[in-house]
Amino acid sequence: MSTSMERAVVLRSLSCTPLVCTRFFARSSSKLSRLSPLYSLSRCHRSVSLLHHHLRPISTASRPSTQLRRHFSSLSPRAIATPPAQPCSEVVVADDVVAEKLGFDKVSEQFIEECKSIAVLYKHKKTGAEIMSVSNDDENKVFGIVFRTPPKDSTGIPHILEHSVLCGSRKYPLKEPFVELLKGSLHTFLNAFTYPDRTCYPVASTNTKDFYNLVDVYLDAVFFPKCVEDFQTFQQEGWHYELNNPSEDITYKGVVFNEMKGVYSQPDNILGRASQQALFPDNTYGVDSGGDPQVIPKLTFEEFKEFHRKYYHPSNARIWFYGDDDPNERLRILNEYLDTFDASSASSESKIHPQKLFSKPVRIVEKYPAAEGGNLEKKHMVCLNWLLDDKPLDLETELALGFLDHLMLGTPASPLRKILLESGLGDAIVGGGVEDELLQPQFSIGLKGVSEDDIKKVEELIMNTLQNLAEEGFDSDAVEASMNTIEFSLRENNTGSFPRGLALMLRSIGKWVYDLDPFEPLKYQKPLIDLKARIAEEGSKAVFAPLIEKFILNNPHLVTIEMQPDPEKASRDEAAEREILNKAKASMTEEDLAELARATHELRLKQETPDPPEALKTVPSLSLSDIPKKPTFVPIEVGDINGVKILQHDLFTNDVLYAEVVFNMSSLKQELLPLVPLFCQSLLEMGTKDMDFVQLNQLIGRKTGGISVYPSTSSIRGKEDPCSHIIVRGKAMSGRTEDLFNLVNCILQDVQFTDQKRFKQFVSQSKARMESRLRGSGHGIAAARMDAKLNVAGWISEQMGGVSYLEFLQALEKKVDEDWDGISSSLEEIRRSLISRNDCLVNLTADGKTLTNSEKFISKFIDLLPSTPSIQSASWNARLPSTNEAIVIPTQVNYVGKAANIYDTGYELKGSSYVISKHISNTWLWDRVRVSGGAYGGFCDFDTHSGIFSFLSYRDPNLLKTLDIYDATGDFLRELEMDNDTITKAIIGTIGDVDAYQLPDAKGYSSLLRYLLGVTEEERQKRREEILSTSLSDFKEFADAIDAIKDKGVVVAVASSDDVDAANKERSNFLEVKKVL
Ligand SMILES: [Zn+2]
Repeated sequence: MSTSMERAVVLRSLSCTPLVCTRFFARSSSKLSRLSPLYSLSRCHRSVSLLHHHLRPISTASRPSTQLRRHFSSLSPRAIATPPAQPCSEVVVADDVVAEKLGFDKVSEQFIEECKSIAVLYKHKKTGAEIMSVSNDDENKVFGIVFRTPPKDSTGIPHILEHSVLCGSRKYPLKEPFVELLKGSLHTFLNAFTYPDRTCYPVASTNTKDFYNLVDVYLDAVFFPKCVEDFQTFQQEGWHYELNNPSEDITYKGVVFNEMKGVYSQPDNILGRASQQALFPDNTYGVDSGGDPQVIPKLTFEEFKEFHRKYYHPSNARIWFYGDDDPNERLRILNEYLDTFDASSASSESKIHPQKLFSKPVRIVEKYPAAEGGNLEKKHMVCLNWLLDDKPLDLETELALGFLDHLMLGTPASPLRKILLESGLGDAIVGGGVEDELLQPQFSIGLKGVSEDDIKKVEELIMNTLQNLAEEGFDSDAVEASMNTIEFSLRENNTGSFPRGLALMLRSIGKWVYDLDPFEPLKYQKPLIDLKARIAEEGSKAVFAPLIEKFILNNPHLVTIEMQPDPEKASRDEAAEREILNKAKASMTEEDLAELARATHELRLKQETPDPPEALKTVPSLSLSDIPKKPTFVPIEVGDINGVKILQHDLFTNDVLYAEVVFNMSSLKQELLPLVPLFCQSLLEMGTKDMDFVQLNQLIGRKTGGISVYPSTSSIRGKEDPCSHIIVRGKAMSGRTEDLFNLVNCILQDVQFTDQKRFKQFVSQSKARMESRLRGSGHGIAAARMDAKLNVAGWISEQMGGVSYLEFLQALEKKVDEDWDGISSSLEEIRRSLISRNDCLVNLTADGKTLTNSEKFISKFIDLLPSTPSIQSASWNARLPSTNEAIVIPTQVNYVGKAANIYDTGYELKGSSYVISKHISNTWLWDRVRVSGGAYGGFCDFDTHSGIFSFLSYRDPNLLKTLDIYDATGDFLRELEMDNDTITKAIIGTIGDVDAYQLPDAKGYSSLLRYLLGVTEEERQKRREEILSTSLSDFKEFADAIDAIKDKGVVVAVASSDDVDAANKERSNFLEVKKVL
C-alpha cells in the first residue's frame, strides 16, 4: 500500500527545489522506515534545476519510490521527458475548426520526438490565456494551471493564497474541496506549489472521468475561490491572533505561519533563503514568497484579496494538458471558465525583472538557532553563490552548464565534491550547484560543519579547485561516465512516482513563465548530440574551461554567506514575538479582548463543524462500479539458479534491466547493526585493490545506470522475527547485463575496508545528515523511536537511522582515530556474515528476452559468491525502554507522536483498516491538528506488518493539546455518522492509494517486497474485497482497537525545551528528556 509513500517521495523531491511550499504534507512516513533504511546516500541539493534532472542521474539506481525515504530529504525522481513506455500508436489532435469555434487561436503545433507527442500551443482569443495541449498515449494524464505571482514583500501572500484558494469555491462551496479530492479520487498526483515567482496547481489521474473532475475542481478553485470573501479562511491559513480566554496570553496561529516557523528553524533553509535574497536584492527574489514569520502578521486581508484579483486571471495564466484524453474536450472545459473574463493587464504587471550584475562581491553573516549548551566548535556554514548572467541563458549553454555541474558535483568521485569533503574542513556539502529554475541561473557551493577559523580556508579551496578545473580540464573517463549517466537517465525516463507529464510540464514552464518558448525545453536531443560532438572534437577542456571562467571565476556577482550558530537565537525570537503579542494585548480594551475571544471561539467552531451533506455532494466522485475488482497484476516467476532463488518480472522496460540482489541480515551480531549503513556506503565509495574509488565510480557510471546498496527491515505479520536484508540494486541497458553483475560482484567482494580517512568522512557526513533530519523531519525521528520501543524491526531500523544511530555516530567519530583496525575488521565481519549464496535472492525486472539472456551472467555471478556454512541466526530480541520521551532540539515548532501495537489488543487485520486510517487522517486529524491546531500536518499510520498504529504531527505549535486529540480518536469513531456517499468516497480514495501508479521498475520492486513479507495474491484479493465492502460498523468496531493507543500508547515528541518544560510541569514529568544536538 504505497501511494502515500509515493507522494512523500514527490514532496521530498520538490522540497529541494526553490519551491517554497507544497500545500499538502504527505502522510504515512513511518511505513517508509519499516521497509527501508532511514538513511540515504544521495545528497540533498538546496535547489536542483530541472535541467539537472535531465542531466543528473535521477537516482543512481537508488532505492525505488515504493519504499524508502522520508519526506523532505533529498533526491528527485523528477526528470525529463523521454519516450513514454510504449511506442506511440495513434494520437488524436484537436480539430482546428473546433478550437476556433471555442475561442482559441492555434499559435504553433510541433511533434516532440523526445516524448513522442504532438504539442499544440493555443492562445485564448478573449483573455490571452496560453494553453499547451500535449497529446500522446500516456494514460497518466496531467493538468496544471500556473500563474505568475511575484511578491513585493515577505508577508507570504502567494503562499497563503495557494493554501486558501483550495478552501472552497463558487461551484464547490465546502470547507476544503481539496481534502474531498484527497479522500475520494483516484488521482495519481494532487498538490499545489508556491515558487519564488509563480504558483502552480497540478493534478493527474489515469481515469478520464476522475481526471476531468479534478480539473474542474481546480479551475473553479483558482478563478472563483471563497477565500476572497471569507476573512476566516485568511485567518486560518495565513495568520490570526488566538485568545481562548481574555485572561490568557494572545498567541499567533495560522497554517502557513507555523509552516514557515518550521522552515525558519532549519539552518539549511535559512542559508538557502539568505543566498537567494542576497543574490537578487533588486527584484522579486529579494523577498520570501513563502513568508517570513516575523513579517507574515503584517499582511492585511485587503492586500490578500487584491493580489488574487490581479494575478489569478486568465490573462496571467499558463495552462498545461498532457496525456491520451480527447484534446477537444480540454478546450471545451477551459472555454467555459476563460470566457467569463475580459482581458486584463496582469501579464505585463507580473513580469519578472532581471537582477543587474554587481560590480563587486558581497559578504553576508547570518545567525541560525543552535542548541543551548551544545558544542559550537564545528557548527559554522559557508556558501559561495554566483548569479551567472543578467539574462536567461540559451538552451545550449544551459545544457553545457548542467553537464559541467554533473562533472564537478554529480557523484562522490566528482572533483569539486570530493576535494571539499576530503579537505576535512567541513562535514557536508551545502549549495545546490547550478540552479536554473528562476529567471537567471545561479551557482552555489559550500560546506557545513566548519569551524570558525576554517571559513576562509573553505573559500580559498573552492576558488582554487575551480581555477584548477578551468586550467586542467576533466579526466576523459569522468566525461564518459557523466555522458553515459545522463543518456541513460534520458532514455530510462524514470520519473519515479512523479507523473511523466508533470515532469515535462515543470520543464516547459521553467521557460514559458518568462515568455520564452515552451517547446524548446522539451527538445534536448539535438543540443545533447551537438554537445557530445563538440566535446569529441575540441576536448572537454575547450568546452568547459570558458564556462568556469566566464560565469564563475571572472564574475563579480558573488555572494558569500557565512552562517553562525547562535544558541540564544531561538529564545530571542521567541521573546521578541511574545513582546509584540503582549503589546498588542495591552493596546486592546476589555471589549476588544472579549471580542477576540469570541472570534477565536467562532473560528474554531466553524473549523470543527463538518460540511453539510448537500455541499459535500457538489464534489464529483466516481462510483464503486468504476473501480476494478482485482488488484494490479505484476507478473512473477519464481525460479532457481544454482540453488539461489530468482524472481523474474516480465515487463516492458524500454530495454533496461533492473536487478536487486538481496542478502539476509539475520545472522549479523547485534552490536554490528549501526555500522551497516556505513558498510553499504563503503562498498560503493572505498575502492578495491586495483581501482581507487574514483575509478570504481566512473566505471559504474560508464557501464550502468547506477548501483546502490542499503539495508531494509520490516516486521512480518504473525511472526516474531523481522525480515531484515541488505539490498544491492542496479540497473543497466540489457546489453550491459554482464558488466552490471561483474560490478556488483566487484563491490561485494573486492572492495577493501582500508581507507580510514574516507571512512571518517562518511561518519561526519552521516552525522550532519542525521542532525538536519532531526530538525527537518522530526516526525520521522519520533516515529522511528516509537517503533523501536514497540518491536524488533523498529529497533533495528532505529539503530541504523534514528536517534540511537546519531548517538552511535557521535561516538564513532572519535573511535575512528583511536581504533581504526577494530572498525575495519568489524566491516570485514559484516561482509563475511552477509555476503553468501545461502539465503541470497535475485530479483529481475525486464522484458522476457532480456530476462532469458541474463541468466548465464547471473549463474556466473552466483558461482562466484562464497558459500558460508549456515551460521545460526543472531537473536535480536531488543527494544528501547517503553518510556515516554521528549527529544529536545532548538526549534519553534514540534513533532508529536503517540503509538501502540494494536495486534496486541487482539485486533485482526481487515482491509477496512486502510479505509479507516486514511479517513482519520483526512478528517479528524486534518481538522483538529492542522486546521484548528495550526500544525502544518497531522496524520496517522497503520503498519499492517507489525500492527503498530501511530499518530504523528508535523511543524506543530502544540504538544499536550495534540496528544489530547489523538486520545479522543476512539470517541470520534464511535460517534461517527457517515452516509453511503461518504463511505464510498473513502473507499475510492483508499483504492487510489492501493493502486498507486507505478513504472515497471517499481512494480517489480513492490512484488519483491511482497514476496519477502509473505503477502500472497490471495491475501491482496481478500484485502481488496474487504476494502470495497467497508461499512460504518467497521469504523465503530475499530474504535476499541484505537483506544489501546490512548490507554497504553507510548509518546515521543521532538520539541522545543520550553514546550517540553511546560508539558512536564502540567503532567508531572511524564516525558523523559533527551538532548542529542
Ligand atoms: Zn504551505
